[in-house]
Amino acid sequence: YGDFNQKIDYVFKVVLIGDSAVGKSQLLARFARNEFSLESKATIGVEFQTKTLAIDQKTVKAQIWDTAGQERYRAVTSAYYRGAVGAMLVYDMTKRQSFDHMARWLEELRGHADKNIVIMLIGNKCDMGSLRAVPTEDAKEFAEIENLCFMETSALEATNVESAFMTVLTEIYRIIS
Ligand code: GDP
Ligand code: MG
Repeated sequence: YGDFNQKIDYVFKVVLIGDSAVGKSQLLARFARNEFSLESKATIGVEFQTKTLAIDQKTVKAQIWDTAGQERYRAVTSAYYRGAVGAMLVYDMTKRQSFDHMARWLEELRGHADKNIVIMLIGNKCDMGSLRAVPTEDAKEFAEIENLCFMETSALEATNVESAFMTVLTEIYRIIS
């Protein structure tokens, strides 16, 4: 591009939700800046990060919101969901409990968000395959029943991260345009 006055055709707000420590912040760091950190730092004040990309020759600014640790207190506010057109529902595939909580997060999401929101279920940390606690089939079945997209990712190894976000953004674009 190199065009600083680039016209933005669409801004899509996408929210990250799921239990603490499943890798939400690192998925965002990987997607927005191609960075990863093994140090689990609490998110420092930043509410969202943006990434501008092209879909179907339109310029789309993805505005991805991170919970800034609020999920620990199960107090993600309704402002967080307001205006969201996409959501990434993240669990840690090595932590069964984080997957079992997906139904609860989905309920909270559906209670707050627009009914046409595009939702992607994400099983993160697939680089730790030997510690897997959630079979792919279980997640696929849940995604099918709930009508969600589904992917397994690794923020560490950058597996499927771009692909997961692009799938959601492209689906949002398809619905909106
Ligand atoms: P959040 O609380 O959901 O935002 O989780 P974080 O992004 O802070 O990640 C929690 C911990 O898991 C950190 O130590 C990360 O480095 C680690 N982590 C995140 N994603 C991955 C991944 O894909 N693979 C592995 N092995 N570790 C990860
Ligand atoms: Mg975080």
